[in-house]
Amino acid sequence: MTAAAGAIRTQVAIVGAGPAGLLLARLLDDAGIESVVIENRGRDYVEKRIRAGLLEQGTVELLERAGVAGRLHEEGIVHHGIHLQFDGERHRVALSDLAGGRTITIYGQTEIVKDLIGRRLDDGLPLLFEVDEVALEGIETATPRVRFLHAGARREIECDVIAGCDGFHGVCRPAIAKHLQFFSRDYPLGWLGILAAVAPSSDELVYAHHERGFALLTLRSPELSRLYIQCAPDERIEEWPDARIWEELQARVALDGWSLAEGPVLEKGITGMRSFVSEPMQHGRLFLAGDAAHIVPPTGAKGLNLAVADVALLAAALVEWFGSADDTGLRHYSAACLARVWRAEHFSYWMTSMLHTFGDPFEQRLQLAQLRYVVSSEAAARTLAENYVGLAGSRLGGADIDGAARRVGPISVPR
Ligand SMILES: Cc1cc2nc3c(=O)[nH]c(=O)nc-3n(C[C@H](O)[C@H](O)[C@H](O)COP(=O)(O)OP(=O)(O)OC[C@H]3O[C@@H](n4cnc5c(N)ncnc54)[C@H](O)[C@@H]3O)c2cc1C
Repeated sequence: MTAAAGAIRTQVAIVGAGPAGLLLARLLDDAGIESVVIENRGRDYVEKRIRAGLLEQGTVELLERAGVAGRLHEEGIVHHGIHLQFDGERHRVALSDLAGGRTITIYGQTEIVKDLIGRRLDDGLPLLFEVDEVALEGIETATPRVRFLHAGARREIECDVIAGCDGFHGVCRPAIAKHLQFFSRDYPLGWLGILAAVAPSSDELVYAHHERGFALLTLRSPELSRLYIQCAPDERIEEWPDARIWEELQARVALDGWSLAEGPVLEKGITGMRSFVSEPMQHGRLFLAGDAAHIVPPTGAKGLNLAVADVALLAAALVEWFGSADDTGLRHYSAACLARVWRAEHFSYWMTSMLHTFGDPFEQRLQLAQLRYVVSSEAAARTLAENYVGLAGSRLGGADIDGAARRVGPISVPR
């Protein structure tokens, strides 16, 4: 990074210090490419924001390659299966047996973010928190710029490329909205999630279909449980005292001979559900990655994993471009990402539709028929398993993404 007359000059300006932006910066640094990351929140807020916690094997492997998996390997919990519960019975889906030995790992998104921020600051690389009034300019030129306010001063980054990693509510996607097409679905569903200081009552995740509404038992560590119940998207958290949450959880996951342990609630919140995709994920010299470009309902645990998959492709394309002026990867970036995104969108939509209560008895009978099929047919269980552990390295990991990219065709990058 060099500064001249108040401007910062770098190769890649990265807007947003969530998992997508921070991991992209790490991957670029490994390849000797300079970047500046700007984030509108404070470090403390970003490091404490409780979100995803389930990593596909491909995500773990990428974090290893990025040199930030030390703590993940010490503290992450590897799982080989999940449980589906319905009609008063719990059925195990043996993910690893069904999906070629692949596993999932439980490790909080907050921990990944802490690891990446720690590494960036240890490396002495630029990461500016609490920026404000972020605006993008010159996106259709070879010299895009990012203007912002930081510590009371107006700043500007001059760069070759902007990476829009600023999540669903950021400024990057709106800056190119007129060049994009949006596809979305809102669900009449919310998830009320709690983090509780109690050892998980099940050693693997439990997805429970129940007439009172869906419930999910998951965890963050051997001492911390993460639990969710379906609610309406517009409910207020004040209407949910802890005792009511536990009562509802107990009713929805009850099973003969098993009990759910309760503990102090450390954090709670309600999130609405939506599916959203922006096509394409690029305009000019601005490339969108992660939640800035797409949202999935959390039932398939794909949001974080998709963000990581995007930046793996974007980093590789940028390395190629800066290294040898070959823009093939950049031109195909959007189509390559979207092939995976739409597969994950479908899986997340399918899991959401199968497991939640919509108050329609016909729908409920269809759901039960589908759940019985998944736990009794190896082919159906395999479909769930291979999507759940992630398709990286299998059918949508390599050749098919290239194929999809060729079919959609390249997008130009301003020279
Ligand atoms: C409440 C909640 C619960 C979730 N639970 C799950 C789950 O259980 N499983 C799962 O797989 N996924 C879950 N997700 C989704 C998952 O967390 C996201 O897919 C993931 O965070 C995407 O990472 P990202 O880096 O693309 O975006 P984000 O994590 O949203 O990061 C974007 C960053 O950009 C910053 N930013 C925004 N605007 C600006 C601006 N103008 N200038 C600079 N910076 C800006 C934000 O502060 C943020 O730090 C959840 C999401 C939410 C909101």
